[in-house]
Order: sequence, then C-alpha cells, then structure tokens
Amino acid sequence: MAREQIVLLGAPGSGKGTQASHLVKEFGYNHLSTGDLLRSEIAKGTELGQKVQGIIDAGNLVDDMTVLELLKANCDLENKVYIFDGFPRNGEQAKLLEEHVLKGAATKAIYFDMDLEHLIERITNRRVAPKSGEIYNLLTRPPKVEGKCDVSGEDLVHRKDDNEETVRNRMNVFRDTIGPVLDFYESQGQLVRLDASRPSDEVTKSLKEVISA
Ligand code: AMP
Repeated sequence: MAREQIVLLGAPGSGKGTQASHLVKEFGYNHLSTGDLLRSEIAKGTELGQKVQGIIDAGNLVDDMTVLELLKANCDLENKVYIFDGFPRNGEQAKLLEEHVLKGAATKAIYFDMDLEHLIERITNRRVAPKSGEIYNLLTRPPKVEGKCDVSGEDLVHRKDDNEETVRNRMNVFRDTIGPVLDFYESQGQLVRLDASRPSDEVTKSLKEVISA
C-alpha cells in the first residue's frame, strides 16, 4: 500500500494519465487530474465550467486560485493517497499545493522528461474513454473496435483541445511554466526525473521502482 503522495509532472501527452492508471490499480492511489475535474465541470454545465471552457479550448491556463479550490474540494488528504496530475502547472501553484493541501505530507514529485516535438503527434492521435479512463493512440495503441473502448465499450472521445493548434499552444505554455515547478521540488529534495520517451511498459517499471523505494 502506498504511503507517499505523488505529484506527476510532464508535458501534455507525456503519459501521466496512462501511468497513473497503473499506480491506481497496483498501489491503491487515487488519481486526481485537474484537467478531468475541469472537463467534468464543463460537461455538467456549471458556472465554473462555463467560465473555464474558452480558456481550456484555447490551451491556456485557468487561474491558480480557481483550480486550487476545485482541487481542495475533491481531496481528502487525511485518509487517502493521491496522484496529483496536472497540478501544479507553475511555480505559484507548486507553493499553493504545498501550503494548502500537502502541508508537509511525505511527497515525491516525478517528472516525465521527454522531447516535446514528438508529443504533438502523440496527442493529436490520442482518444480517451471518459468513464473507464482508458487512453488510446490511433498509431501506437488503437482500440480493437474503431471508436470504442476495449474495456467498457463506450464511445471514444477526441478531446477538443487535442487539435494541433491548441496542442502547440499547450506545449508553449508548458515550456514557459515548468522550470520553476522543477526548481521548487528540486529544492525540497523531492524531485525524481524519469525518461518518459521509452516504451510505456519500461516507464511503468521504473515508476514502480521509484514508488516502492
Ligand atoms: P490536462 O488534462 O491536464 O491537459 O488539462 C487540460 C486543460 O485544463 C489545460 O490546458 C488547462 O487549460 C486546464 N488546466 C488543467 N490543470 C490546470 C492547472 N493546474 N492550472 C491551470 N489550468 C489547468
């Protein structure tokens, strides 16, 4: 059973969601993705969802406090262990997460390091199954039946912000904001870097070693 909180860091499409699902199954983690929480608000048509839809569609960042509040409302750190995916996105969010959520809890920040150019092709070919959480790639991991999830049979979704123009902007935003996040966790002695350009099962193996260490 896992004891440390995990912060997964990496560019869009670097495999955070795919790897998180392995850790959920094997170590009993709860996967908390701020992107999923925001998309769920949009799907429910809440006031918050309406406020953030245009920002997400353009590939820009929602303001720090809005995402922090949503995260806090969905988090029970006293009783559960989490994989934080998609938060923090900048240095300020790293500080907010520590001050308002983690508050000194044992934490590892794992950075999925890889070349951003390859990711654009990977993301534009990504298809997701919102209910089962399975993630497919039309080139490298196509579903058995076109457009359907192998596990749940539900229709696969091409995320609106997974088009090339938005993806390029998301990559630029990532490049501009990740430095201080890495500096923050490095200075806390919590940062582990993984080469995420390797095949997915090798990344899973390394990740499990890091978690068990
Ligand atoms: P993701 O699913 O992590 O790729 O996030 C999709 C989109 O949700 C991002 O491009 C942002 O618009 C928004 N988003 C997710 N997490 C955050 C965050 N921590 N801060 C600001 N915006 C976020």
